[in-house]
Amino acid sequence: MNIAFIGLGNMGGGMAANLVKAGHSVRAFDLSSEALARAKEHGAATFDNVREAVQGVDAVVSMLPNGAIVEKVYVTDVIGHAPASALLLDCSTIDVATARKVAEAAASAGYVMVDAPVSGGIAAANAGTLTFMVGGDDAAFTRAEQILKAMGKAVIHAGAIGAGQAAKVCNNMLLGIHMLGTCEAFSMAQRLGLDPQKFYDIASVSSGQNWSMTSYCPVPGVGPQSPADNDYQGGFATALMLKDLKLAMEAAHTAGSSVPMGERAKELYDAFAEAGNGGLDFSAIIRTL
Ligand code: NAD
Repeated sequence: MNIAFIGLGNMGGGMAANLVKAGHSVRAFDLSSEALARAKEHGAATFDNVREAVQGVDAVVSMLPNGAIVEKVYVTDVIGHAPASALLLDCSTIDVATARKVAEAAASAGYVMVDAPVSGGIAAANAGTLTFMVGGDDAAFTRAEQILKAMGKAVIHAGAIGAGQAAKVCNNMLLGIHMLGTCEAFSMAQRLGLDPQKFYDIASVSSGQNWSMTSYCPVPGVGPQSPADNDYQGGFATALMLKDLKLAMEAAHTAGSSVPMGERAKELYDAFAEAGNGGLDFSAIIRTL
């Protein structure tokens, strides 16, 4: 297939390379010349702007920083410039309302669009092991799956347009909450005189067990290898967790959902990022407890 790929940053770079590996012809565009040069090294053809990149394609995939940019790119440069037969897939993490608005604008011009945000970080993007949560109708999902499976280990149909973004913000709100809960429990265990490894041995096979503990332990030297073992470098940046918690709070407000734990997690990550820790892995918040 001929696929335009817009946004070749930390995530998009590896995803576009995996589309090439799967045998697709990738037509790449990014505002950054370094990102474009890397895409070229990985076998993509590069273009000077979005409108050129989307000429004659079967699909457009985007991996962009936020909803305002996604809206601008699609409304100004994709809709009316890509063939109307092209499937549009936005994999960025953006607010549910913008995802629906852009998909409606696309539909009124005759395009089919899906929201397909991902779970998994830069390593999963490079390895082609992302999880995609897809919003769109059944026929759109079937078409999207053919393309997304080249970049992920799981492609799940979440529901109608916007459902992918809804699943993503709910999941990441829960992640922020259970990471904070896990950090609190380890800090308190230590103050109560428990060895962290002993607490892990007990809690990881008891009812306190959760992903932040057994797959991503915030305590160095405990559990499988995690960013804590690398001085909280790499992994999932605090700034990105904060972005997702803000999107979750927006979604909760729109839906009239009560989320006191999500709200508190947002406040704590906000303060942690404000203190200059936005680039550290989000498990580093244990240092503040
Ligand atoms: P990034 O900043 O590394 O990449 C974004 C890219 O988009 C940059 O290369 C930038 O130059 C490009 N860009 C910005 N505006 C553009 C425009 N108008 N036209 C073309 N290109 C443009 O960000 P990232 O880490 O790759 O994240 C991308 C998306 O994936 C975000 O929505 C993020 O929330 C989501 N996400 C990131 C992670 C992660 O671990 N990094 C995990 C899951 C989801």
